[in-house]
Amino acid sequence: MLFPSTRVATDPDRLRDYASSTEVRPRCASVLVVLAISGSLIAQQPAWQAPPKLVVGIVVDQMRVDFLYRYWDNFGEGGFKRLVKEGSFQRDAHYDYAPTHTGPGHASIYTGTTPMHHGIVANDMFVRTTGEGLYCVQDDRMTGVGGTGVKGQRSPFNLLSTTLADELERRTDGRSKTIGVAMKDRSSILPIGRTGDAAYWFFEGTDGHFATSSWYLKELPEWVVDFNAQDLATKYLSNSWDLLLPRERYHQALPDDNPYEEPLAGSLKATLPLDVKAMYEAAGRSTVLLRFIPASNTFTTDFALAALKAEGMGKDAVTDLLAVSYGAPDEIGHEMGPRAIETEDMYLRLDLDLARLFTALDQQVGKGEYTVFLTADHAAVDVPAYLRDLKGSAGYVDAPELVKTVEKALIERFGPGKWVRKRVKEQLFLNDSLILANKLDRSMVQRVAADILLQQPFIADALTASDLMRTTYPTGIRNSLQRGFMPQRSGDVCYVLLPSYLTSWPGQAPKGTDHGSPWNYDTHVPVLFMGKGIRPGEIVRRTSITDIVPTITMIVGCALPDAAVGEPVPEVLR
Ligand SMILES: [Zn+2]
Repeated sequence: MLFPSTRVATDPDRLRDYASSTEVRPRCASVLVVLAISGSLIAQQPAWQAPPKLVVGIVVDQMRVDFLYRYWDNFGEGGFKRLVKEGSFQRDAHYDYAPTHTGPGHASIYTGTTPMHHGIVANDMFVRTTGEGLYCVQDDRMTGVGGTGVKGQRSPFNLLSTTLADELERRTDGRSKTIGVAMKDRSSILPIGRTGDAAYWFFEGTDGHFATSSWYLKELPEWVVDFNAQDLATKYLSNSWDLLLPRERYHQALPDDNPYEEPLAGSLKATLPLDVKAMYEAAGRSTVLLRFIPASNTFTTDFALAALKAEGMGKDAVTDLLAVSYGAPDEIGHEMGPRAIETEDMYLRLDLDLARLFTALDQQVGKGEYTVFLTADHAAVDVPAYLRDLKGSAGYVDAPELVKTVEKALIERFGPGKWVRKRVKEQLFLNDSLILANKLDRSMVQRVAADILLQQPFIADALTASDLMRTTYPTGIRNSLQRGFMPQRSGDVCYVLLPSYLTSWPGQAPKGTDHGSPWNYDTHVPVLFMGKGIRPGEIVRRTSITDIVPTITMIVGCALPDAAVGEPVPEVLR
C-alpha cells in the first residue's frame, strides 16, 4: 500500500513499514530523498528512546492459564482474546518459588525477583523478636488518607527491592505517573513500591471506597473524592448476580448446586442467581461483600479509568505506569473452586471489563502507544474433595494434628516444653528461648522436626532453615523453597504437602480451594503482553514471572529493579 508522501514523511512508524516493504516503488526523487533522510534519523534512534507513553500491568488474582483454554469460546473479542490474538502469549510461565500467595506474588512480578531477595515471604509473616504477626504491608506508623481504621496502617516498608514503578521514577527524575489500583491493599502497594506516586485500595466495611495511606499522600486528590462521592459500591451491591450467558453454554461437568462449593456469606447455597442486595442488607450493609462478586472487577476498572483520565496518564512522552489488580477471582475461587459456574461467569464478566479498559486506552492514549502485560499472582488447585471423588490422589492435612505430632517427637527427644512456637502455612517456627535454655544446637532441633515430618505419608519434602542456608538446590521443589526463603523472615522448617493436598483444620468443610505450593497447579499462570514494542506470537518454552519486568525495562529503557533475577524474553520483543 502506498501512502501519500506527506504522511510518509511525518509518521515514522508508517515510514518504517513503507521503507521495508518490497512491493512499494517510490515514484519520484523527492520522496526518495525524504525517505533517506528520515530513514537515517530513525536508524540513529533506538526504539527505547521512543518508549510507550504508558505501561499497564494487570494482575488477575488466582488465575490458572487453562482458564483461557476452557472459557475461550465464551470470551468476547476485546478482552482476553484480543491479548492472545494481538499480543505475545507465554504459555508455560511459572512462579519458580513457594509459597505462592498474593503478597509474594505481586512483589515478585514487579521486582522481577523472588521472596529470598524482596523479603515478602508470606501474606502474614511472623516476627521472631516480637513474637507477633506482621501483615506484609502493615505499617502501624501510617494512617488512612480518605479512609479510617487499620486499612490505613499500610505501606511498602517491608519490601526490600525497588519495583518497576521505582525504576521508572528514577529514569524520568520523578516525572512518571505511577499509580496502583486494587481492592486488596497488598495488591496495590507492592507493585508501586516505596517511591511510586500513589497506591489506592478498597477501604471496606462502612467506608466502602478507595483511599490510600499517609505513606503516599497527605490528602486525596479531587478526582478520588469525586469518584468516592458517586458511592458506586452501594450501587453495585444493590443488584443481583445472574448468569451472563444461557446456562447451557457454560463448561460445567457438575451441577451448579454441588458439594464442593462454599456459599458466600449471607447466602445459603452456592448457586446463581444470587440476590446480592439481600445479602448486603443481611450483612448490616457492610461493603466487604463487594470483594466477593464480579462487580468488584467492574468497580476496580471504574477507578482505574478515573485515574487514567484525571491524572492524564499516557498523555506525554514520559512513560507512566498503571498497575491494576483484580481481587474477585481469588475471593470467588477460594469459596467455589476452579470448576464452579460462578468462577466461569466471573471470568466472562472480567473479560468485558478488560475490553472496556483496552477500548479506553485506545481512545485516551492511542492504539500502539501503550504496552500492556497481564499475569496472575498465583493459580490454584482443583477442590481436593472433588479430585478425590474422581479417584485422584488428593486430600487434606489437619494442621493442629501435624504440629502435635512434631511437638511429641521433640519432647521425646529434648524434654518437656512448647517446642513449636508458631505455624505459618507450611512453615514451623521453633521456640528459640527453649532451645537456648536447653543449650541445644538449633539446626539439630530443626533436623529432628523435619525428619518427623518426612515420616508422614502426605509430606512430599521438608527442609530446615540450616539446609536452606548451607546447601544450594539447583532445581525442583527444593529450589522453589530456597527462592521463597529468607533467613530473617522464614520458618525453621519449610515443608511441602503431596500434590493436591491442602492444609486444613478440624471442622473445616472440604469445599473451595487454596494455593501456596510449588506444584504446577499453583505456579502455572498466563503471561500476556500486547501493544508497543511487542512482537505477537506464542511462546511454549518455560519462562518465569520474574522475566516480566526485565522484559518491560528493555522496552521502556529504564534500569532493572535492584534485585531482579529474571531475564528479558527475546521472543516478546519486537
Ligand atoms: Zn492472590
